[in-house]
Formats: sequence, C-alpha cells, structure tokens
Amino acid sequence: MSSLNYQNYVKYHKWIHRFIYWAIILLGVCMHIFKSMQIKMGTWMYAFFLGVLFFYVGNEALALLNYFDSYGLRFGFKLFELVAYSIIIAKIPSDPLTMCIGLAFVILLSVEFALYDTDYDKSKIVVRKILIAIYIAINYGVFVTGKKETYYVIHFLVDAVILLVIYFIIDWLSGQSKSYDRERNELLVKISDVDKANNSLQEYHERIKSVNEQINYQKIELMRAYKDMEETNRDIAAQTDVLKYAVSTFDIQKIVEVIANSIVEVRKASLCALFIDSNVYMNKQPLVTIKTDYASIERRLKKDIEQIYRDFIQDNNQPVTYDEEHLSEFRFVGDTNIKSLTIFPLLEGRKRYGFMIVCSKNEDYFKRGLGIFESDLVGISLAIKNTNTYLKMQDIARHDGLTGMYNRLYFNELFSVAVKQAVKKGMPISVAIYDIDNFKSVNDTYGHLVGDEVIKMVAKAGDMIAKKYNGFACRYGGEEFLIVLPNHDAGDALPIFEELHEQIKSKQVKNQDMRISVDVCIGVSSYPTTCNNTGLLISRADKAMYYGKRHGRGRLIMDSDSLDY
Ligand code: GH3
Ligand code: MG
Ligand code: MG
Repeated sequence: MSSLNYQNYVKYHKWIHRFIYWAIILLGVCMHIFKSMQIKMGTWMYAFFLGVLFFYVGNEALALLNYFDSYGLRFGFKLFELVAYSIIIAKIPSDPLTMCIGLAFVILLSVEFALYDTDYDKSKIVVRKILIAIYIAINYGVFVTGKKETYYVIHFLVDAVILLVIYFIIDWLSGQSKSYDRERNELLVKISDVDKANNSLQEYHERIKSVNEQINYQKIELMRAYKDMEETNRDIAAQTDVLKYAVSTFDIQKIVEVIANSIVEVRKASLCALFIDSNVYMNKQPLVTIKTDYASIERRLKKDIEQIYRDFIQDNNQPVTYDEEHLSEFRFVGDTNIKSLTIFPLLEGRKRYGFMIVCSKNEDYFKRGLGIFESDLVGISLAIKNTNTYLKMQDIARHDGLTGMYNRLYFNELFSVAVKQAVKKGMPISVAIYDIDNFKSVNDTYGHLVGDEVIKMVAKAGDMIAKKYNGFACRYGGEEFLIVLPNHDAGDALPIFEELHEQIKSKQVKNQDMRISVDVCIGVSSYPTTCNNTGLLISRADKAMYYGKRHGRGRLIMDSDSLDY
C-alpha cells in the first residue's frame, strides 16, 4: 500500500489532475470542431470547458509562481475551483453523456478537494467533507431552481447518493492511508528498535574498543616488566657468576677480568675499566684491566688511568655519573659516541684502593640504578679480603715464627720443584745443612732468650746468602738450617758456603756487656758432582755436617765418597 502514501498521492494527483484537465480540454476542442456530435455545445458547456482551461492554467501558473506556498491560498483556490464547477456543471444541459462526465468530474474534484493538502489530517478532512456537502447542496439548489417539483426528490436522492459515494471514496482513501500509517508506525517502531539495538551494539563496540585499548596498554606494560625482569635475571645470573668466582679463587686479576667481561658482554656497556692500586693484595704494581671494543679508547685509557685515579676526587666516596656535556674532562673518550660515564670507587671501609669506570653510548644507561655495578665491586672487595687473608695464612704457614725463614714444610715444596727442574734441565743444584756448635751451652750459659737471638742471627746470615745467590733457605730444626742453591755445582757452591761460614763466625749477639759469637758445622752435597741421586742430597749433606761435628766442629765438609761416615 505504500503507493498510496500521501507523498505519492500528491505526486500522482498532479499528473492525474493534469490528465483529466487535458482530456476535458481535448473533449471540448473536439466537440467544438465536430459540431455534428450529439452533445449540444450550449453556453454553459463552453463555460465548463473555458472553466476547465482557466483552472488548469490557474493551477499551473500559481504552482509555477509558488503562490501555493501558502496553505490558505491553496485551500481558497481549491474551494473556489470546486464552487465554480458546481455552478457550471449544474447549468450544463442534462443529456446522459454530459451528466456522466459532469458527475465523474464532480466526484473526482470533490475527492481531490477533500484530500489534497490535508496530509490525511482527520479534522481537515471533516471540514472539507462539510464543505463538499454544502457545495452539493448549492449544486442541488442551482440545479432544481426553475425545475418541476417532481425533480426535487429524485435529484435530492441522486445528490445524496453522489455525496455518499464521495464520502465513501474519501474514507476509503484515508483508511488506506491509516493502514499505511499503522504499517509505517510499526516500521518506525521496528526501526527505532533496530536503532536502539544498533546503539547498544555501538556502545558495546566502544566498550570492547576501550577494553582492547586497556589490554594493549597492559600488554605493553607486561612486555616492559618482562623485559626488566629478564634484564634483572640476567644481571643476577652474571652477578652470581662473579660472586661464585670471587669466593672460589684468590686470582684477583682473573676476577677483575670476569667482572669487566660481564659488564661489557652481559650488561652491554661500551667500556669497563678497573684499576686496583699497588700493595692492595700484596701486588707490587697497580692492576689495570680494560675491556672495550674501542681500540682508541683502550690505548688512551691505558696511559691515563693511573693519573685519573690519582686526580679523581669525590664526595662521600659515592659513584659519580657524568653526562655527555661533561665527558670532555676525559681525554680517553675522545670523539667517540660515548654518552654517559660513571666512576665507581673501590673501598675498604672508608679507604679507596681502586676504581671502576663504566661507559655507554646510551645516555640512559645508568637510569636503572648503580646498585648492580656496586654489587660487582663487593665481589672484588670480597675476593681481595679473602686473598689477603689467604696470603697472610699462607705466609704464616710457610714461615718460621722465630726467624722468619721458610719452615721445613714449605722448604720441601720449594726443594721438590727446584730438584725436578734441575733434573729436567740437567742443571746442577747444591744443598748445605748447618747446625750451631755446642748450642746447648749457649742456652745453659745465657738462657733461652739469648739462645733465640743467636738462632735469629745465624738464620739471618743463611737467609741473606740464599737471597744473594738466588737460592732459598729454611730453618730445618731447632738450630739447624738448610740452604739450597739451584744452578750451582759443588765448585760454585763451596765459596758461597765458606762466605756464609765466615759471616756467622764474625757476627756477635750482644747480651748486656757480653758479646756472644758462635760457630757452625756445615755439610754440603751437590748434584750431580757429589751425589747423582737428588733424593739423597739432604741426607748426604747431613752426614757431611755430622762428619764435621765428629771431627772437631766449626768446619765445612763437602760430601764425598771418600768420606768415612
Ligand atoms: P752439637 O755441637 O753437637 O750440635 O751440640 P749442641 O749442644 O748444639 O747439641 P744439639 O744440636 O743436639 O742441641 C740442640 C739444642 O738446641 C737443644 C735445644 O734445647 C736447643 N734448642 C732447640 N730449639 C731451640 C730454640 O728455639 N731456642 C733455644 N733457645 N734453644 C733451642
Ligand atoms: Mg748444635
Ligand atoms: Mg742440633
């Protein structure tokens, strides 16, 4: 039924209206031309055709000039049109054909008048129905005027039927529109439902979008956290390695290298340099380790690092970070793309004993904090402490408490190495053992403390000779001492031990106003000159020494097969 909606009605009406008008005008023209036609062209007939022509032209002209923009004007024009026709049609001679044409025309005009421009508004249609009734009544009045009384009733009945037909068509058409309206309303309701559904879908979509955005943010945060965690794990793993190493070895050089490697390779620094001052862990020279891919930096820093360490001043012994602007202070950075640098002090309590320089080409490199680097340095401190303790213990374990000479235990280690080397390289090695003569009487006469001083004096002489001739000496027992001279055959060794003998004899220990001097017996054996079995060297020297004891003391005896032990 959509073809009967009001907009369509208006559109079709215009063309139906035009068609009817044209048809009637054409009919009028034909009737005028063919006068022989049965219909008699009287004055009112011409008036009718002229009226039709007038209203057609009027309608079109007013439409063209937009006069119909005013509802009142449109309504007035239509009313005028209807009334004019009702008078004209009533006056047309009433032969059956013109009656029928007139009747159809009246019905059409009335229906058009009732509906046109109403937008199917009920009250407007009622007013127009009343106006149509009035116009039919006028038509009736005009028609019956001057007619016989018998026509009054017939014509009244005919007009009543015409009015009912008109009303029926009007109601039918507006009824159609109502059902269309109902449909349209239902459709509108459906559309509004769809709209609502669309809106809630849209809302839902928006919500999903915002949830998705949140999820994306969370994903990014999670990825960031995961990356941080990975970096932290990596740092902890590297740190654990360093600490494991730090507590398991006394090789400071190696530990420092492990730390520098870990900072450059695992933590992706561009440079890690470590400087440990001399005499920190019984090291005679400062320890310098530089790890970097920049050969030019390494070259320059090697030259400058000690001076940087000496010149470096910092407050509270805290690490100092330098940004790009202040890097020119460091000659070694040069024109590389290094963007940040931190100097970490190495501390023993409040005392600085070294430092670490870490550089990066990333300006934010130290933003994650310096703690992880400082904990590496704890590894170094720990290792140095351990090493120093170890070296101290080792020193105690290797030396004799009274004389400071090597003890017998360590001597055996050194001797075994020296002997192996001598045999391997086919080099000579000489051994001397000496014992203080009649020492008991020194103790008995001057007491043990004086005895100790005598032992120290004799030990010192042996130590100095050993050092002078690249050998080593030890306190072998109470007042017995051993000296080993690698690379010395019997001929080389003899004058050295004679020198020792002379020294011991010439030295004196002061006790109050007394001067105590002692003599010793020295037994010498030499590989391969006097003894070609290194395992027997010490016992052969011992035997030579006792030979001396038995033969008057104060003597130096060279081991020989001819000796009668
Ligand atoms: P000999 O000429 O035969 O060697 O006679 P000696 O009296 O030296 O005899 P021996 O070598 O057997 O005596 C060693 C003495 O040295 C015995 C011991 O009391 C003493 N002695 C050992 N160690 C020490 C020490 O650390 N300090 C002191 N004061 N005396 C010691
Ligand atoms: Mg003795
Ligand atoms: Mg003795």
